[in-house]
Amino acid sequence: MFGYSSSSLECNRAVYTMKHYDLIVIGAGAAGLMCAISAGKRGKSVLVVEHARKVGRKILMSGGGRCNFTNMYTEPENFLSRNPHFCKSALSQYSQWDFIDLVNHHQIPYHEKTLGQLFCDNSSKDVVQILVKECSDNGVSIATQCQVSSVEQIPTGFKLLINDQRYEAGAVSVATGGLSIPSMGPHGFGYQLAEQFGLDVIPTSAALVPFVMGERWMKKSRELAGNSLDVVAEVSNTSFREAMLFTHKGLSGPAILQISSYWQPGSAVHINLIPDVDATSWLIEQKSNAPKTQLKTVLSSKFSKRMASYFIDSFDNRIDSQKSMADFTNQELAAVGQSLSEYTVYPETTEGYKTAEVTLGGLDTNALSSKTMMVKDIPGLIFIGEVVDVTGHLGGFNFQWAWSSGWAAGQHL
Ligand SMILES: Cc1cc2nc3c(=O)[nH]c(=O)nc-3n(C[C@H](O)[C@H](O)[C@H](O)COP(=O)(O)OP(=O)(O)OC[C@H]3O[C@@H](n4cnc5c(N)ncnc54)[C@H](O)[C@@H]3O)c2cc1C
Repeated sequence: MFGYSSSSLECNRAVYTMKHYDLIVIGAGAAGLMCAISAGKRGKSVLVVEHARKVGRKILMSGGGRCNFTNMYTEPENFLSRNPHFCKSALSQYSQWDFIDLVNHHQIPYHEKTLGQLFCDNSSKDVVQILVKECSDNGVSIATQCQVSSVEQIPTGFKLLINDQRYEAGAVSVATGGLSIPSMGPHGFGYQLAEQFGLDVIPTSAALVPFVMGERWMKKSRELAGNSLDVVAEVSNTSFREAMLFTHKGLSGPAILQISSYWQPGSAVHINLIPDVDATSWLIEQKSNAPKTQLKTVLSSKFSKRMASYFIDSFDNRIDSQKSMADFTNQELAAVGQSLSEYTVYPETTEGYKTAEVTLGGLDTNALSSKTMMVKDIPGLIFIGEVVDVTGHLGGFNFQWAWSSGWAAGQHL
């Protein structure tokens, strides 16, 4: 087995002679490390087991290497779950302000990028170092390159097979994360455990993920790859106003990632390409202000020239873009306006877990106490973080769920 040094991100060889812990945490990601810190601060003996060589790998790769570690405006409404109330207890026990206090305590520089999203000034490593230092200060042992292969209930708690050796714990915290980025190693152990213990798992799917568009759409749109614009993207009454990016496979950018969590295969995504104005009124106003100007030129004041021609070509009602504004009837302009404010696309699919930031679905929260994150019928068995059916919006909310659920679990052992 390998132990973890708080001073570096490398492993130290160390043998864990202790075979019984108050708590064994499976997974040294954001949720698992926070759970270990929370329990360690309360004097519990804690071992965190991580199959990879490094802890906090998703933290390290997050936020483009700067980790969007929380969001100042975190509210329960920022989370998707079959039970939208489930996240409230954990979020109130450990809020974004608690994590910000921790970051301040460790004197890590950070900034708000946009919409309350807090990022490290320097590197995501700063966040991992905070967690490792807190673990070390609170007597938590971390074993990397160790895989938990089985968990069974025994009269005193649980017995676990870790790299084929038997360990025991009064409580086990399953913090194994979701299915995104399959190249990061074996996934799905948390869901397997849920099934083994007879707990329901809400079907999982890739979320916060780019859309792949069909060949016909791509044929017309490929040349726009790399262009982005501010839009409102909507799926069944949920909408997000952020940037949308044309890619070589389809559509991406924050607005698209956000709406992907609400999209069902086969359904439409409605996009307002011109969110600040009523498109029809604006076009009619342009007609009276500049009657001799071509529609294409008018649209070029809001979009790049290439995009303006693209949108005109892609409208369902074919439009002669060379015509002067004065030659359009108001009815025709209303049709153009509607096409701009209700641009509709039917994604073929998403890019899937390969590029998804998170996994939608997971352990059904019905099985858990929202206060303790413990399985109601199996004392000592805990599920936290992304493996649970609670998924945050883009913008630091997923880490906040990991911190909050991890902390809450550690407080009630
Ligand atoms: C590219 C990318 C960027 C992201 N950026 C952000 C961001 O900026 N802000 C944000 O809020 N969210 C972001 N996210 C989402 C965020 O990373 C996750 O929601 C969060 O890491 C979930 O934490 P977790 O502890 O539940 O799971 P994870 O971080 O996935 O940790 C689970 C750990 O369990 C280990 N494990 C699994 N099975 C076993 C086993 N059997 N034995 C031992 N160990 C095991 C895994 O190796 C892993 O280390 C991003 C995700 C990705 C993929």
